[in-house]
Formats: sequence, structure tokens, C-alpha cells
Amino acid sequence: MRPLPERLDAFMARANAAYYADRDPYVDFTTSPEISQAFGEVLGAWAAVCWTLLGRPDPVILAEAGPGRGTLMADALRAVTRVAPDFRAALRVHLIETSPRLRRIQKERLDGVYASWHDRLDTLPGAPLLLLANEFLDALPIRQFVRRGDGWTERFVGPDGIIEQPAGPLNRDAAEGEIVEICEPARAIAGELAARFVRHRGMALFLDYGPAESAAGDSLQALREGRAADPLAEAGSADLTAHVDFADFARIARAGGAAVHGPLAQGMFLARLGLFQRTDRLAQSLPPARASALIESARRLAEPDRMGRLFKALAVCHPNAPVPPGFEP
Ligand code: SAH
Repeated sequence: MRPLPERLDAFMARANAAYYADRDPYVDFTTSPEISQAFGEVLGAWAAVCWTLLGRPDPVILAEAGPGRGTLMADALRAVTRVAPDFRAALRVHLIETSPRLRRIQKERLDGVYASWHDRLDTLPGAPLLLLANEFLDALPIRQFVRRGDGWTERFVGPDGIIEQPAGPLNRDAAEGEIVEICEPARAIAGELAARFVRHRGMALFLDYGPAESAAGDSLQALREGRAADPLAEAGSADLTAHVDFADFARIARAGGAAVHGPLAQGMFLARLGLFQRTDRLAQSLPPARASALIESARRLAEPDRMGRLFKALAVCHPNAPVPPGFEP
């Protein structure tokens, strides 16, 4: 019996669940918090300033979606303990993570920190919220539609590769044969966050890769040991990601009543947050070889031809919130 074609988002969800359940993803790729400790530290300082802008609520939730190895949260908490002890005392750590394996790694990494884990954003308690999410949205499953004549088809994964099946109408422009991607879980998160921020104060920061404006094209990619691999190969053998459609995410959050800032290039955002000053400070107490490695890692995060331009920062905030740090016009 031949397996039925599987809709692309179902395939991607199944592939990533299998992948994150079994593998150490950091063999196949690296991320900003793993590149430099200064990344998590400046985001911790960002959250501390946001807490002041929110009026110093106590308690406040400091949450992270898709925390990976727990490195960003560990670095952020260390910085906060030093620069904003009042914020440290007021905050409660909540982590949104579906992979049992990564949850275990996060628990070890955050040893001694009182934290709660969730499968989804919408089970966070109703209280003021500061949310961090680095390379979380890019892991959420996408659907792909193809413009064919006056209508659209949708891409499914069949036993021998991609199959197109007729699809309903889609409110998007594309030339014949072009692919349009839609990430339904990201849309749901944008809507849920907006609904939440209409009732509770808060600010959420998303750092991820993708263009500033919605663009047509197939952005599904797989990484194995740092190299591009076939995204449709055996499900679970590689990490699958797609470009984040920041414009779509922002539009849905705004339609739900939230205030949105960005997307802004990650390099600009991190420079405004003081990534280089923090890096220089850390470098001063290191032997020369480690100091230059640290400075090099900050450049990797911020330089436009590396991660500084393709990666973007986007903030979603409660209506009429002050502008969060880094997003000043
Ligand atoms: N933020 C980390 C990890 C990025 S990898 C870093 O920068 O290193 C993506 C993370 O999101 C992993 O922790 C993965 O297990 C988690 N994740 C993927 N899909 C998820 C979902 N639907 N809900 C919650 N977490 C998810």
C-alpha cells in the first residue's frame, strides 16, 4: 500500500517533532545564544528595561518560546541578577517547549532556577508578560501554495516527492508557478498574543530570519551538520525551517489590537542594545585569543552580510505601550 500524500505542514510538523525528540540539534546548526553569551545578556537587559516601562509589575512572567538548550535564558538571568536585582526578584520563569529531550537539557542548564514548562503559549498564567523567542517561529510548519492559472494548488509530500493538489482561493498575488507560504501556527500565535495583550500588559520579542516584506518563493530548508540537505528526505533526519513572514505576523497582531514595532535588522537592534559595548567589557578580562574570538562572535551576529540583516527583530506589545528599547524610530 502506498502512503497517502501528506500536506506539507503535517510533514514538517512530524519531521521536526521526530528530529527534536531524538537528536542533538546543535550538531546540525548553531544559533545566536550559542554563538555569544553577550546575546542573552543584552536580551536580559532588554527585558529589564521593558519591565520598568511596564511599571515594574510584581509578579511578572519572563517567558521564552523554543528555548533550545536554555542558554539564552541562563545568560539573560545572569545579567538580570547583576544589573536589575528588583526585576530578578519579581520575575517568574516560564518556558514553552514541546520536546521532552530539550526540556531535560533546559532543566539541567537552569539548575537552581524555579521555572515552569508549557506546551503552548496560551497556558501561561494571566499576568504581565515579557516573552523572548529566538529562532522559534522558523521551526513552525508551513503550507505552500502554487499559483496555477486563475487558481491555486497546494503542495503535498508523496512517496516520490512533491505532489500538487487543487486548493481553494488565496488572497495573495503571485505570478504563474510562484510559491506562497503560510504559517498557520505563527498566525495563531500572533492572534493569541494580541488577544492576551489587550487584557494584560506585556512585550514580546521575536528574533528570526526572513525578509522584511512578504515575498513569494520556496524557503523551506533543511540543515544537517551545518550544510543544506534535502528537506523532503526521511522525516526527522534534519531540522526543517522556513523564512518567517514578519509582515504577515505583524498584520495579524495589529488586527488583534496589539502594538507592533519592526521588523528591524538584527544587527541594528543588537548594536542599539549595546552588544559591542558588552562584548568589549567581557573581552577585557579574557586572554587575547579568547577576547578576539568573542569580538568575532559579536560581529557574526551583527554584520549585514552575516546574521545582521537576514535576521530581524520584531516586538509585539500591549496597545499604547511605550516603544521597547532598540525600536526607537
Ligand atoms: N531558541 C533556541 C532554539 C531554537 S530551535 C536557540 O536559539 O538556540 C527551535 C526551538 O523551538 C527548539 O527548542 C524546539 O524544540 C522548539 N519548538 C519547535 N516547535 C515548537 C512548538 N510548536 N512549540 C514549542 N516549542 C517548539
